[in-house]
Amino acid sequence: MKVFITGGAGFIGSHMAEALLDRGDAVMVLDDLSTGRMENIDHLIDRPGFEYRVGSATDTPLVTELVDRCDVTMHLAAAVGVKLIVDQPVHTIETNVRATEVVLEATAKKKKLVVVASTSEVYGKGVKIPFAEDDDLKLGPTANSRWAYACSKALDEWLALAYWREKGVPVIIPRFFNTVGPRQTGRYGMVLPTLVAQALQGDPLTVYGTGQQTRCFGHVRDVVAAVLALVETPAAVGQVINIGSQEEVTILQLAEVVRELTEADSDIVLVPYTEAYAEGFEDMQRRVPDVSKLERLIGFRPRTSLEEIVRDVVADQRSRLAAT
Ligand code: UDP
Repeated sequence: MKVFITGGAGFIGSHMAEALLDRGDAVMVLDDLSTGRMENIDHLIDRPGFEYRVGSATDTPLVTELVDRCDVTMHLAAAVGVKLIVDQPVHTIETNVRATEVVLEATAKKKKLVVVASTSEVYGKGVKIPFAEDDDLKLGPTANSRWAYACSKALDEWLALAYWREKGVPVIIPRFFNTVGPRQTGRYGMVLPTLVAQALQGDPLTVYGTGQQTRCFGHVRDVVAAVLALVETPAAVGQVINIGSQEEVTILQLAEVVRELTEADSDIVLVPYTEAYAEGFEDMQRRVPDVSKLERLIGFRPRTSLEEIVRDVVADQRSRLAAT
């Protein structure tokens, strides 16, 4: 099988490309290198079956050509990272909505399977734990840019489901919960790579708010395996499916785990949200996926322990620091 991956030089995309090559599939990556990086795919370039193009997922002729040349499309290109979203709301909305339109239009011509990546952000500030796919979405006001991301991805989901219902395009919509692992950068605000980098440099670990907010961190390897299993599952077509771990941790506990596993003597400092982001920023207090649908469909869910995940991220960052 040949798989077209938009955003294939990004964090999840590059792991997806590698997993596909490892099992003998061919891969075509498209990335505009805005948040994706060549260093994520440098190690794949000489592997048989790997091709890449630098370009935008909003470029209709290019996307149409690449969709036509592949059997399955994985649309992972998106503006991601809370910091990026708050800093560049125009870019976020335009990238997320336009690229998905272009990809769906292209796949619709031949009715080829397309995976449209979504995110747990769409649950917004819902408080029903765990979040199940059919729960109501609870977004904040338009005055707050954070919700533009949630809304743009929710629109992507509606559009993908509309293409399925109205035009018969086979779509699968995974909602990724906090996904972490080697190669993820803290540049766009993600907490785990940020804390690990701080610890390795001996800097204070910045925990926003009270640190009592919780997240569940899934290893990118498990998340990629789950998406690949869904692609092989006919019952997943036309479905929205949560993908994530259920091991819930407060951000303060996470910082403590990072400090312990790096053996850093950094302090943990609490940074008010107004300093970290902007006035009026709203954070989710708890975010836990209901993964029963995922388990029903593919028979497994992300299970790598938080400790193992943090160890992997620390080892990755250490090896990068050693290489520079
Ligand atoms: N966070 C933090 N320190 C940082 C970056 C993020 O305490 O240096 C917090 C952030 O406010 C949120 C949690 O960690 O409560 C997860 O943030 P991330 O941006 O990784 O993901 P998301 O907010 O999308 O869950």
